[in-house]
Amino acid sequence: MPAGRPGRHVAADAGAGGGAGAKADVDADAELRRRVGALVRDVVGFPQPDVTFKDITPVLADGAAFADAVAWLAAPFEGRTDTVAAIEARGFILGSPVAYALGTGLVPVRKLGKLPAATMAEAYMLEYGEATLEMHLDAVKPGDRVLIVDDVIATGGTLVATASVLRRAGADVVGVAALLELLALGGRQRLGGLDLHVLLSV
Ligand code: AMP
Repeated sequence: MPAGRPGRHVAADAGAGGGAGAKADVDADAELRRRVGALVRDVVGFPQPDVTFKDITPVLADGAAFADAVAWLAAPFEGRTDTVAAIEARGFILGSPVAYALGTGLVPVRKLGKLPAATMAEAYMLEYGEATLEMHLDAVKPGDRVLIVDDVIATGGTLVATASVLRRAGADVVGVAALLELLALGGRQRLGGLDLHVLLSV
């Protein structure tokens, strides 16, 4: 089994059923949260003065933490996902190994003008202004079960737009996997109907 493929499941609802296995899973979750949480770096004032950027590059640089985080992100979606939609740019870094772990393909969701073939687009609001993301027209088939992967959920606007373009293409969005969510920005509320699998809530 290649490094990074989930060797065991760390269930999202671990603990609900009780028993020694569930407790071990809860302990493993807590331990992974501690390790990854210690690696995520706050960069104050980037890319603008009022933002504290959550830098995941120290997680990526730690082979064991990277592999365990990827396995954790993928585990609940094994056997119920046909493809992974990864959001530019850090979503590509996490989404690719998640897709590999799940044995699925990968669909890049990119900023406007980056994809070479025919696309469908979705415009969405940012805190200041507007942005557009694109996906290839033939990237998903109607009925495909799609997992969306990104690094950080902030306002949730990017994920709402990604889910929307996937649904317009006929896909079934089975969930969102992310390393981190910024609770104060309310992304979880905007993503109410989606199954969110997030390692760290800060
Ligand atoms: P949003 O649409 O507001 O949820 O923003 C999500 C996108 O912006 C994700 O692709 C994140 O990578 C990035 N992002 C937003 N805020 C931050 C932050 N404070 N630290 C790191 N990445 C962020």
